[in-house]
Amino acid sequence: MSVAIWAIVPAAGVGKRMGSEVPKQYLEVGGKPVLQHTLERLLSVETIAGINVALGEEDGYWPDLPFTDHPRICAVPGGRERADSVYSALLHLEDRAKPDDWVLVHDAARLCITRSDVLKLIETLRDDPIGGILALPVSDTLKTVDDQHITGTPDRRQVWRALTPQMFRYGLLKRALFDAAEQERLVTDESSALELAGYRPRIVEGRPDNLKITRPEDLPLAAFYLERQCYE
Ligand code: C5P
Repeated sequence: MSVAIWAIVPAAGVGKRMGSEVPKQYLEVGGKPVLQHTLERLLSVETIAGINVALGEEDGYWPDLPFTDHPRICAVPGGRERADSVYSALLHLEDRAKPDDWVLVHDAARLCITRSDVLKLIETLRDDPIGGILALPVSDTLKTVDDQHITGTPDRRQVWRALTPQMFRYGLLKRALFDAAEQERLVTDESSALELAGYRPRIVEGRPDNLKITRPEDLPLAAFYLERQCYE
């Protein structure tokens, strides 16, 4: 029996740290909205059967993007937190996805994701029973902090930065996000929900230019990366 690959793009955030009227996923970089870049890159992976994009309730920008009638894209309502948006998008896949199908969850704000990184993730995890995430080793020494004072220095060889896409089996991810919500645990990525459920998701090293637009200074950096990737 063949296993399908689906994608979910949570895009219902307001992007408070950006300090802009327009939500960050609709800011323009290189002449196109952030979300358009992100979706075009995911669409370039032919093996992704469909993409559910979770949108905010008062999103008036989506209809201006060229995807409203796209056969592989479906807009669904998002939720209060990122995990709620992802869960909502998972529920909207219920009729089409089987428990063992793969779901790739990718932040709308990570517009520099490359096709090669998505394919690397899919290829590495193809036979895994659980799934895993793109991640990056850290180069800085890290500190834990409480009230502006350092409380410790974790061994940086044991710490990685979690990126997206994060790729998990449909049934496991839905259950893990449901349980995390029941327990009122705040999960800021899919992997943490799986970790809470006792699983140990895999790490696949991703590219350092897979940045998440968060602050105004990220926009010119993303434009630089996008341009440079065109010449690779
Ligand atoms: O705020 P942060 O950068 O962590 O958000 C990561 C992604 O989750 C963004 O693409 C954002 O639009 C999305 N999100 C969402 N629903 C929320 C909050 C964030 O889909 N309630």
